[in-house]
Formats: sequence, structure tokens, C-alpha cells
Amino acid sequence: MTNKTLTLAVQKSGRLADAGLEFLRRAGLRFVSANRALKAPCRNFPLELIFLRSKDIPRAVAQGVADLGICGEDALLEQASDELTTLERLGFGRCRLCLAAPGPLEIEGKKIATSFPNILRGYLNRVGKTATVVELSGSVEIAPSLQMADAICDLVSTGSTLTQNGLVELETVLESQAVLVAKNGLTERDCPVLGELLLRVRSTLAAKQNKYIVMNAPEDAVEDIKQLLPGLKNPTISALANPGWVSLATVVRTEKFWETIKALKAAGAEGILVLPIEQIVE
Ligand code: AMP
Repeated sequence: MTNKTLTLAVQKSGRLADAGLEFLRRAGLRFVSANRALKAPCRNFPLELIFLRSKDIPRAVAQGVADLGICGEDALLEQASDELTTLERLGFGRCRLCLAAPGPLEIEGKKIATSFPNILRGYLNRVGKTATVVELSGSVEIAPSLQMADAICDLVSTGSTLTQNGLVELETVLESQAVLVAKNGLTERDCPVLGELLLRVRSTLAAKQNKYIVMNAPEDAVEDIKQLLPGLKNPTISALANPGWVSLATVVRTEKFWETIKALKAAGAEGILVLPIEQIVE
């Protein structure tokens, strides 16, 4: 493929729409968006957004309507996973596809309502159970109260919709988050623009996953502090005017942030400054 402008299908409106655009903005991409009309060209990169319904995105990419797409892993697996490659997991739009029912239930032999028949059938196969899959395109939660099904298989994030409908979670079928996908065979080697886009995406993801911290510590605590920062390159250490004290600067993982801070304080670190990172370019 030549260095043409790439098209990226994103959700027009809904749960992944704002977070998707926000992620692209953080990656330094600026769009001319006329109220999310149908398309929005990027002002500073050879990329054009096309706005679609989230469920249509995997198929649109598989059919070549768009080169790339941002969609939920759930939609990807339900629709076109064999024809698409996941380039990156994007860390937003997290939810889980769950089995739920009005109370504890053994699903063997039961009726399960869902908008994800393919994923559900795959799951039943994997766990060696048999059930009747009732396909619904929406409002799946009300199926048990209408006696259309014994259980449901639907997306959950907080669980409040399940509770409102008198349902309890039984099992998790799939953990999902937003992903950047391409049609199989579109590679960075053949398409340098994709390589440049992925550099931006990966730098943005790495920045979100880490924080930069600067702290003061007594010199004799440095070895202990270094042990608390596994997997990272050595911290930068500079002398302070105060004899016997140093300043250390390093990067810590966002997911382990508070545990790390607690341990650093216990090891003698003081005056810990925490700064967000804009990009980490490897
Ligand atoms: P929407 O079309 O706005 O319902 O968005 C659907 C996509 O948002 C799904 O494919 C999921 O990947 C993602 N998502 C995140 N949280 C939830 C949730 N609680 N319920 C449904 N979809 C969710």
C-alpha cells in the first residue's frame, strides 16, 4: 500500500465516541469536525475519520470501507474477528460480557437471550454446556421478566442496569475494551503512515499508563528506593544542597501508583511531586 491518507472508522455517538476522539486528540491529531457529519479530515496528519454505528465498524473495516477502526472487542469478536487484526488495546470503554439471571442458575439446558450470539455460542462450546440462544437486538435485560429467556448474556460495566432489572451476574464471558483494528495484511512495513500513527497511539498509551515522579530522600535510602521501582530503568539521581540528601526522578506505572507511593514514603522518600506525562516515545 502507498502512503495514502488512511481512513479510520469511529463511533458516531455512544459510549466509545467521546473517549475515542479524546484519545486521538491526546495523540496530537486535530480534526475538522462539522458536528461529526459523516467524515472529518485530520488537519495535521494523513488521516480521515468516518463516523459509523459501533456495531457496523468491524464489518466496515473488513469490507475495506475504512482502513482502520476503533470499536469494542465485543463487537470485533461478534462480527469479523477472523478478517481483522487488533493493532492496540486502547484502555477505555472497559466492560464485560456477562451471563446474568434473576437468581443463581445452572445455565445447562436453559434459554439465554443476547445480542452476541456468536460469542455466546463460542463460550458455551468452550465450557462444554448446551443452551438455547435467543437472539435479540436490544433491551436484552427485560427478556427474563417477559419469560422470553431464563438468563441473558449482555454487556455490563457498573452492574446498575442489571440490578435495576432484578438480575444478578452469574459468569463473565468476555472482558472487553476499545481496540484499534485493521484489516488483516495492512502492516506498518507496507504503509508508513500506519507506522507513524501507531507510534503516536503507542506513545499516548504509554504516557497514560505511567506517571513521572520526583522525590527527595536521604542518600542511605537510595538502594531501598531503587528496589521499589522494579522493571524500570534506574532513576535519575541529583545531589541536593542539603548534605546527605538527593533528589530522585523516575516513572511509575499508573496502575500501581498508590502502592508504590506508600512504599516509597515508608522507605524514606519525602516531598514527592507527581507529574502527568504527555507522551513516551520509545
Ligand atoms: P453503544 O453503541 O453506545 O451502546 O456502545 C457500545 C460499545 O460500548 C460496546 O461495543 C462496548 O464495547 C462499549 N461499552 C462500554 N461499556 C458498556 C456498557 N456498560 N454497556 C454496553 N456497551 C458498553
